[in-house]
Amino acid sequence: MTANSGLAEIREILLSYTAPVYIFSHQHPDGDSVGSTVGLYYLLRQAGVRAIPVLPAPHPEIYGFMLGNLEILTPPVDIRGRTAVVLDCGSLQRLGETGQSLEGAARVINIDHHLNNQMFGDYNYVDSRAAAVGQIIYNMFAHDPFPPEAAQALFTAVYTDTGRFSYSNTTSATLASAADLVELGANPQRVYNEIHQNKTQQYYFLLAEVLADMNLSCQGKVASIALNRHLLAKHPVADWELDDLNDYPRSLRGVSVSVILKEVEADTVKVSLRSKDRVNVASVASKLGGGGHYNAAGVTLNMDLAQAQEQVISQIEAELSL
Ligand code: AMP
Ligand code: MN
Ligand code: MN
Repeated sequence: MTANSGLAEIREILLSYTAPVYIFSHQHPDGDSVGSTVGLYYLLRQAGVRAIPVLPAPHPEIYGFMLGNLEILTPPVDIRGRTAVVLDCGSLQRLGETGQSLEGAARVINIDHHLNNQMFGDYNYVDSRAAAVGQIIYNMFAHDPFPPEAAQALFTAVYTDTGRFSYSNTTSATLASAADLVELGANPQRVYNEIHQNKTQQYYFLLAEVLADMNLSCQGKVASIALNRHLLAKHPVADWELDDLNDYPRSLRGVSVSVILKEVEADTVKVSLRSKDRVNVASVASKLGGGGHYNAAGVTLNMDLAQAQEQVISQIEAELSL
């Protein structure tokens, strides 16, 4: 474990490499992991550093507009003796199987914004107050020439991780950098259309069924939706289409914490937690073996769906001191 480095120091280290730098991020890619990967790629390229983005397949369709004709590697990748930059991962476990690619890497540079980041890099830059890793990459290169592709990708990273500039991580600094990124070539309407106006009909069939079955507990303070394997097989939708599903239970009046439980396979349940105001769901998730941010966190549990729902709700109940 090494201490946090400064932003300028990490930038200098990145710019000093002559051999290719490989950019990794977490499994189940989201707008921040893809956006910060693509943004960093273009900014390093602009500075004369060869960067190679690595993203797990399949690449999420709704974030595909950022990828253009980029050459992207799919793990496993042999990077023995090379440099790896790991973005948006609180721990190496978040890389999933992609983590194997890091074996034998000459060095790992960890750039992140999760609470309790495990500082697994040879160099670490972790700022849990940053709204997105895309925000950190923007700050790092704010005084450099900025390719429009980088602006678009970093805008998307910030836009998605702030819930379209509405969560508590949306500050005046976030909005100021978003404005600058638009000035530099990001197109907010394009980003909105690609990500939020791109649902499949299957998604709405699934939504109709699960909304009718939403579960309220803890005196109406917790709303949860459990997606079982059979329902997911009946209405096949891509992972990334469900990224915003938590918006529904969270938007209920009186609800403080919302939960999506997704049975990805028998005895494997992916849990997504969101909170309004002052409930630390990162603490809930980390007690169950996961992690995240104060208002958005997650964990994967190896048990059946009903057990997972019960465990998560009782952990939230403890957090709410009910
Ligand atoms: P999600 O609900 O999957 O969008 O994740 C919300 C936040 O929690 C993200 O910042 C994730 O990085 C984090 N997170 C999700 N799943 C896990 C996990 N299994 N372990 C640690 N952190 C997680
Ligand atoms: Mn992420
Ligand atoms: Mn993030």
